[in-house]
Amino acid sequence: MANKAYKFRLYPTQEQEQLLAKTFGCVRFVYNKMLEERQHIYDTFKDDKEALKQHKFPTPAKYKKDFPWLKEVDSLALANAQLNLQKAFTNFFSGRAGFPKFKSRKAKQSYTTNVVNGNIKLADGYIKLPKLKWIKLKQHRQIPVHHMIKSCTITKTKTGKYFISILTEYEHQPVPKEIENVVGLDFSMNTLYVDSEGKRANYPRFYRQALEKLARAQRVLSRRRKGSNRWHKQRLKVAQLHEKIANQRQDFLHKTSRQLANRYDAVMIEDLNMKGMSQALHFGQSVHDNGWGLFTTFLQYKLAEQGKKLIKIDKWFPSSKTCSCCGRVNVSLSLSERLFRCACGFVADRDINAAINIKKEGLKQLGIA
Ligand SMILES: [Zn+2]
Repeated sequence: MANKAYKFRLYPTQEQEQLLAKTFGCVRFVYNKMLEERQHIYDTFKDDKEALKQHKFPTPAKYKKDFPWLKEVDSLALANAQLNLQKAFTNFFSGRAGFPKFKSRKAKQSYTTNVVNGNIKLADGYIKLPKLKWIKLKQHRQIPVHHMIKSCTITKTKTGKYFISILTEYEHQPVPKEIENVVGLDFSMNTLYVDSEGKRANYPRFYRQALEKLARAQRVLSRRRKGSNRWHKQRLKVAQLHEKIANQRQDFLHKTSRQLANRYDAVMIEDLNMKGMSQALHFGQSVHDNGWGLFTTFLQYKLAEQGKKLIKIDKWFPSSKTCSCCGRVNVSLSLSERLFRCACGFVADRDINAAINIKKEGLKQLGIA
């Protein structure tokens, strides 16, 4: 089985917008209520693990008596709030995350609902959702008939747009592809990556221009009096630019990962975190902004659905300091040196040398010399 999500813009009526707002609110309310209760139980029993386990998780149903308006919204949305909170606690108990936090009014407006007995249907530019009935959407691509809808997540952006992400499941067992064409990618802050053939994945020019525009808009915002009309106007402008940039970046990452996944049978990358962080600090930009994480996620599933491989190289592998020609390690190479020079006479662009090393190391992992 494999999963695939499809995202479309939603166009709710005024009435539907009201119900959506109410649902976002109820989901947040129930989540916070349950968290409050769990927090109390935790504070009381935290030294007694067994007693803690005995206490069942509260369910949204128990609040419906005291807060009857909860019945007006999709009960599956509330059930998912419970699941999300349970997940947050599981992560907390396993040490992967901190204690769950309360959701604020400013938090992302979204909820998830599930398919139960055909309650969700797609037809002629409309989608039927629990409680909302038929809601208009712009379906710019078809969902193949063998894809079963599992759940839908409805989101409202800061600029007031609505989107639905439809998660589907389908039967899929790709035949492993024989590995012939491979490429290594070296992460680069400015261009996303440099590959072992010397190509750079340059962000499009309009994307860089939009980033500059955003920086300007943010400077203007910081000069406006907080809460004033002009401040509100400017804040909306900043939010719109943020959205636009996020979309442009996502398009670019989709296209780039698609080209690689179609062209190569295996792609080698560094398991980045550490290196990315240090470079990000060095350049005063966050790795998150660079989209590397999103890119590798796209790459992973686009390769996997064709029976191809993404190979991750250990982050401690000295990809930039090793000579890709003779294997000698040049420990004195500093970050500012753009050219790699080896005593053997080999000279290459530092990033390309690193990408070749990543490719070689990946081939070693695959058992291909
Ligand atoms: Zn050398």
